[in-house]
Amino acid sequence: MSSAVVVLSGGQDSTTCLAWAKNRFAVIDAITFDYGQRHRVELDCAAEVARRAGVRHHRVLSVDSLRQLGGNTLCGETGAQLGATGQGGLPNTFVPGRNLLFMTLAAAWAWQLGTKDLVTGVCQTDYSGYPDCRADTMAALQQALRLGLELDVVIHTPLMHISKADSVRLARAEGGLELLAWTHTCYAGQVPPCGACPACQLRAKGFAEAGVADPLLARLGGAAR
Ligand SMILES: [Zn+2]
Repeated sequence: MSSAVVVLSGGQDSTTCLAWAKNRFAVIDAITFDYGQRHRVELDCAAEVARRAGVRHHRVLSVDSLRQLGGNTLCGETGAQLGATGQGGLPNTFVPGRNLLFMTLAAAWAWQLGTKDLVTGVCQTDYSGYPDCRADTMAALQQALRLGLELDVVIHTPLMHISKADSVRLARAEGGLELLAWTHTCYAGQVPPCGACPACQLRAKGFAEAGVADPLLARLGGAAR
């Protein structure tokens, strides 16, 4: 029976990928990383999405090393404004090594499960320009994992080259809008979402351009600013 491991953050992109994967693999396992992100609501959302999607196993893996290293605003203690430009000209929400680490751990679990297919919501289009979200990074990582695990690993990136609006359209086409009602996007960690932070604005823009009402806002009974 075909199966895949989905890297599930509890956000819009990974949840869309989960819906995509459900239509392509008989069994889905999901893995979520607790890396000291400031907003624990993400982990709650991941658990809820996994439950509603009927995944076989949902593992929440503690990766405390990123917090121990510090140095970024998503899992650090600094008061810097999220989304501002930081080191190397990258947004200060960039967590160095995060996706490299997460994909490697996901692949390690996949190996144990007898699975070779990994699914991740990384995207190099109209997003923050994180270098570990790019297609060439994922291609190189896939090759490293194939060699290092002696497993024919395939990293599926359904969102890699599509816009946020097309991501919303994809979620709709894959029957994933209901799941998106349980996702978290807001950098400020607010529920209902603040509507003002870069993450909220990007999400709102995608739904607006796709002509789709955000099911999260519909569920919470209001619209973000
Ligand atoms: Zn927000």
